[in-house]
Amino acid sequence: MAIERTLSIIKPDAVAKNVIGKIVSRFEAAGLKIAAAKLVHLSRAEAEQFYGVHKERPFFKDLVDFMISGPVFVQVLEGEDAIAKNRDLMGATDPKKAAAGTIRADFAESIDANAVHGSDAPETAANEVAFFFPSMNVYSR
Ligand code: ADP
Ligand code: MG
Repeated sequence: MAIERTLSIIKPDAVAKNVIGKIVSRFEAAGLKIAAAKLVHLSRAEAEQFYGVHKERPFFKDLVDFMISGPVFVQVLEGEDAIAKNRDLMGATDPKKAAAGTIRADFAESIDANAVHGSDAPETAANEVAFFFPSMNVYSR
């Protein structure tokens, strides 16, 4: 299996609930390494650019409003099969449909405030990592 990097965002709802550490522990327990991390408060323009793929969706405005409502904790996770592994740890987009024991089942309130973001494919992972971490700042170990 390939060693991959993927972008994870702990969203404003989970940061506000003070569960950054609990969520990071899930990644560590699953064998993912933290290759980069920072706490940032996104501007509207940054959030709109990051979620640009969804700009025609009816929930776009609410999604951007939510993502700029407070700081987010952004990480590059690294490990075998990291992209799919992170998506498995996150659970389904709608926490009501997320499997028991997943991050969204345990920490998310609603489909709007759903605790975490994770890249969904190698190409989006590369783009999303580059968006937040210029390559020279990503630590490789
Ligand atoms: P995921 O975050 O699981 O990859 P998507 O990429 O489809 O999900 O959507 C991005 C984000 O937009 C979701 O995490 C969620 O916060 C929000 N979202 C998606 N679908 C809806 C919806 N039907 N209603 C409200 N918000 C939504
Ligand atoms: Mg997505």
